[in-house]
Amino acid sequence: MSSTGSKVRCAIIGGGPAGLTAALELSRAGVEPIVFEMDRQVGGISRTVDYKGYRFDIGGHRFFTKVDRVHNWWMDILSEEFLVRPRLSRIYYQGKFFDYPLKPMNALLNVGFFESVLVGLSYVKAQAFPSREEKNLEQWVTNRFGKRLFEMFFKTYTEKVWGMKCTEIGADWAAQRIKNLNLGKAALSMLAPKLLTGKNQITTLIEEFYYPRLGPGQMWERVTDMLEERGHPVHLEHWVKTIHRDGERVTGITVVDVNGKEERFDADHVISTMPVRELLNAMDPPPPAASLEAANRLRYRDFLTVGLVVESTELFPDNWIYIHSPDVKVGRIQNFGNWSPYMIPDKSTSCIGLEYFVQEGDELWTASDEELIELGKKETARLGLIDADKVIDGVVIRVPKAYPVYDHGYKENIDSIREYVDQIPNLHLIGRNGQHRYNNQDHSMVTAMYAAENILGANHDVWDVNVEEEYHEEAGAKKSHGASGERLVPQRVQDASPIELLNDVFAKYDPVALGGAIGVMIGFAVFLTTAILLVQGGENVGETLALLGNYFPGYDISWAGSLVGSFWGGAFGFVIGFVTAVAINVTVSIHLGKLLRRLGVLEGSLG
Ligand SMILES: Cc1cc2nc3c(=O)[nH]c(=O)nc-3n(C[C@H](O)[C@H](O)[C@H](O)COP(=O)(O)OP(=O)(O)OC[C@H]3O[C@@H](n4cnc5c(N)ncnc54)[C@H](O)[C@@H]3O)c2cc1C
Repeated sequence: MSSTGSKVRCAIIGGGPAGLTAALELSRAGVEPIVFEMDRQVGGISRTVDYKGYRFDIGGHRFFTKVDRVHNWWMDILSEEFLVRPRLSRIYYQGKFFDYPLKPMNALLNVGFFESVLVGLSYVKAQAFPSREEKNLEQWVTNRFGKRLFEMFFKTYTEKVWGMKCTEIGADWAAQRIKNLNLGKAALSMLAPKLLTGKNQITTLIEEFYYPRLGPGQMWERVTDMLEERGHPVHLEHWVKTIHRDGERVTGITVVDVNGKEERFDADHVISTMPVRELLNAMDPPPPAASLEAANRLRYRDFLTVGLVVESTELFPDNWIYIHSPDVKVGRIQNFGNWSPYMIPDKSTSCIGLEYFVQEGDELWTASDEELIELGKKETARLGLIDADKVIDGVVIRVPKAYPVYDHGYKENIDSIREYVDQIPNLHLIGRNGQHRYNNQDHSMVTAMYAAENILGANHDVWDVNVEEEYHEEAGAKKSHGASGERLVPQRVQDASPIELLNDVFAKYDPVALGGAIGVMIGFAVFLTTAILLVQGGENVGETLALLGNYFPGYDISWAGSLVGSFWGGAFGFVIGFVTAVAINVTVSIHLGKLLRRLGVLEGSLG
């Protein structure tokens, strides 16, 4: 088939959010888009699966964006179909629900007094005796929050999502992802919540979100209908096998339909949202070996959902729950009726989605659907979330390449790929896997809008769409500290440079942390000693200890005095700890400076 008349024709690979956005934008501008989607339905990872009338997502898809143009685009297309949904998502750990984002009072009540004391002691221990080395996630988190909090709220879920031990994940990921969480702030927010959480647009996004009545797929099904009305039907079940190139231009593509029939389409432009690794392998003639090898080094994390239909309407009120319990493999559980009641055809039932983070070809990925449904039933029943006997149906959806992985070297790989594709101006790489970017729908759509405008003569850099941090999860999060467009995913621990090693060995003490830790210990010791004496009772109880009143105004051997004493003890300990840390830091800095000068290393390179 050849290009039609004088109209510019653009072949689009993929009918996900990016491909369909590009198609509609081009069609509105008078360019002829022709979309090929290998799946049976549109929407890509943002599709909504329909199983016997039950609709569910590949992971719940909230519609939130800071990009006005995208927000307006969504509203223009589905305005009256959008629901504003309240958000509830909690962490499930050891049979208890913890608010997410974590709230200190709720966490304290859940873990109980005894465990809270242990958490406090493990925090104090970590502050007083931090790990000197801080190379991996476990060391980084434990140094800041203590071992017990690390095990409760960081270890299991992170390991489930990324399939790596926390000791294998580099500390820099934690440093950038968890930097806004701090126990001091958390304690203050418990005492004075209003002080720290002004109600702004971001907190609003945390509490509620937009969601199409029939799931995210409704958006992409509607766009497909609009394209069809405009004379540009989306070609489903058409796999793009080859992209043809002639010198510095692509000339067309070859597609294969479900019957195995191949057809070639000529095009003036090609927009690709297919995984960039596969794109380079589909180029004819092939790219230079260096770029092809770089593409083949890109890695992905895969995902599967077990959907269960349950004969009950009262399961849990959350949209989704993070499962931190280490004794089950499931990572997250969605309750689709809480996203939108219109997703459930039979109102006497519920539909939940159990999410497993997997690797294509691993034990879970290759298990049969029946085995996975049984596993899902068993695990949710073990967690006490459903009664397994009430599960009346189930279905499994496998999603390859759900997450592009940013491992060490991925940036160099992308650079090498770009050296090749940048030489082909009418080939446009956009979208999540199309650019190997950890994008949400909105940023995938922006790359599509830019590519469409470039075809019309603009000069946007589609690789420079900035992906901010997860502002929807943490109020007050700042712009990404990584490269433009980078949303961090974990990287493996690497060997440190000599300077990093020296900095590790001579790591500085945090004066506030050490002061806080010693303050808590002394304050607690004064309280405990006074309390023991009071409980023992008797005449002239605690005469010697009462002498502390000479130094701690208001202290005596009484319950009120125990509180006053713990306050003064805390303050005294804080000063001791603070001064000690500063003194150690100064001494160590002087010695380290001397050492580096002797080794001929510049002082300026110290971190
Ligand atoms: C668990 C999870 C939860 C998420 N939650 C949210 C959320 O809450 N909000 C949000 O906005 N985003 C969310 N996202 C991200 C969102 O799913 C993606 O950003 C979005 O789908 C990317 O769109 P895309 O078009 O770039 O790529 P995709 O959605 O991957 O679409 C690419 C399409 O190309 C097709 N294709 C690939 N190769 C070929 C080929 N050779 N020939 C023909 N067709 C091909 C694929 O079948 C697919 O349909 C989530 C993602 C995951 C994994």
